[in-house]
Amino acid sequence: MDPVLIVGGGIAGLTTALALADTGRASIVLERAAVFSEVGAGLQISPNAASVLDRLGLTDALDRVAVVPEHIVMRTATTGTKLATLPIGRFCRSRFSRPYRVVHRADLLQVLVDAAAGSPLISLVVSTDVTDVQFGPAGVKVGAADGRRFQGGLLIGADGVWSTIRTETLGLPAAVPTGRTAWRATVETAALPDADWASIGLWMGPKAHLVHYPLRDRALVNLVAVLSEPMAEKSWDAAADRVALDAVFGEWADPARAAIATVRSWRRWPLYSSRPDRYPADRPVVLVGDAWHATLPFMAQGAAMAIEDAAVLAACLAKAGNPVSAAESFQKLRAKRTRSLVDLAARNGRIYHMSGAAAFARNMTLSALPAGRLLSGLSWIYGWKPPPLS
Ligand SMILES: Cc1cc2nc3c(=O)[nH]c(=O)nc-3n(C[C@H](O)[C@H](O)[C@H](O)COP(=O)(O)OP(=O)(O)OC[C@H]3O[C@@H](n4cnc5c(N)ncnc54)[C@H](O)[C@@H]3O)c2cc1C
Repeated sequence: MDPVLIVGGGIAGLTTALALADTGRASIVLERAAVFSEVGAGLQISPNAASVLDRLGLTDALDRVAVVPEHIVMRTATTGTKLATLPIGRFCRSRFSRPYRVVHRADLLQVLVDAAAGSPLISLVVSTDVTDVQFGPAGVKVGAADGRRFQGGLLIGADGVWSTIRTETLGLPAAVPTGRTAWRATVETAALPDADWASIGLWMGPKAHLVHYPLRDRALVNLVAVLSEPMAEKSWDAAADRVALDAVFGEWADPARAAIATVRSWRRWPLYSSRPDRYPADRPVVLVGDAWHATLPFMAQGAAMAIEDAAVLAACLAKAGNPVSAAESFQKLRAKRTRSLVDLAARNGRIYHMSGAAAFARNMTLSALPAGRLLSGLSWIYGWKPPPLS
C-alpha cells in the first residue's frame, strides 16, 4: 500500500504516525504550520493514554518531562471548602500499574516529534495546508495550497476541531460552540501565594471553575479557568482581556482568587464540541482525535482519546486486508467509547458550574462519598488498554 497520508501534526496525527510505524507502516504527516507546536499550557495524561505511549516506547522520554501529582483536591470556589481529596497517584499506580501524569503540552509534542523524526517510516512535512482531496482507484491524492500533491493509500484526518476532512471530505456537521471559554496561563510557582500547588486542584463556582496543576519539575503551575460565556470567533489561543475573568473570580476564595490575580497574560479559547458521527465506510478515509470527537476538557480525555485512536487504528490496519475495511472497523470499535466520554465531559461541565440548591446538593454528595468510590467510577476510562496488534 502507498504511505498513509495524515493531515495534521498535533497529538493525534503524530501519535497515529508512530503507532502505524510500530506496525511497519509508512506515513506522511502533513502539517499546516511551519513548525510542530502546541500552546503553552498543560495536559493531564491518564493511564489509558499512557498505555499507548508505553507500547510506543515513549515512557522514559515522557517521564523526563512529566510530573506525577499524588492528589486531586476538589473545593467550592466561593468559600474554599475542601469537598474531596482523591489519591489519584496511588489509585492509578495500584489499579492500572501506571502513574497519572501531567505534562507541558510543548514537552509532550516534542517527545512525539523527536520519535517521529527518528523513524525511517515517517515523513514530517510542515508548511503544508491541505486544501484538496481526491479519491481514485489507486487510493487518495491530496493537494496543498501551494500546489504540491501527495499520493497515499489511506487518508487520516487528524486536523483538529475545525477539521475540513470532517466537514468537506466527509460531509459531517462541524463542531459547535459550547458557550464556554477556557482561559489558560502558566505561572511560576514561586510567584504564587503559599498553597498546595503540587496537587491537581479543582475549584467549582457558579458558571465557572478553575483547574490547576504543576508542570516542569513543579516550577510552573498550569491554570485553566473555564467560564460559561459565549465566544463566537474560532480562534485558538487568542490574547485575552481579563475584565470578564476578574468579574467572576474577584469573589472567589484565596488562593484561587490570588492565583488568578497573579497572571499577567491570559490566552482565551472558545470550547467547541462534536460527536463522533458515523460516516459511510466506502472510501479510504478515517478521522482521529478532535477532528472526529472534539470534547469539552472536563474529563481531561481529549488528547487521551486521540492517543487511544492511534493505537486502535494501527491495530485495525494491521488486521484488515484493506484500508477501507480497517477504517470501518475503527469506527465500530471507537464510536461508543468516544461518544460516552464526550457526553460525560459535557455532564461534568454542568455539574462543575452549578449554583444555588443544585450546587449545595453536589457539594453534600461529594463530601459524603468515599474517595475510593469516586475513583472506582473512573476505572472504565483509565483501565482501557490498546488492542493486540495481531
Ligand atoms: C482547556 C483545555 C484543556 C485540555 N486538557 C486536556 C487534558 O488534560 N488531557 C487531555 O487528554 N486532553 C485535554 N484537552 C484536549 C486536547 O487538547 C485535544 O483533544 C487534543 O490536543 C487534540 O489533538 P488533535 O491532534 O486531534 O488536534 P490539534 O491539536 O488541534 O491538531 C490538529 C493539527 O492539524 C493541523 N491542521 C489543521 N488543518 C490542517 C490542514 N488543512 N492541513 C494541514 N494541517 C492542518 C493544525 O495546524 C494542528 O497542528 C484539553 C483541551 C482544552 C481546550
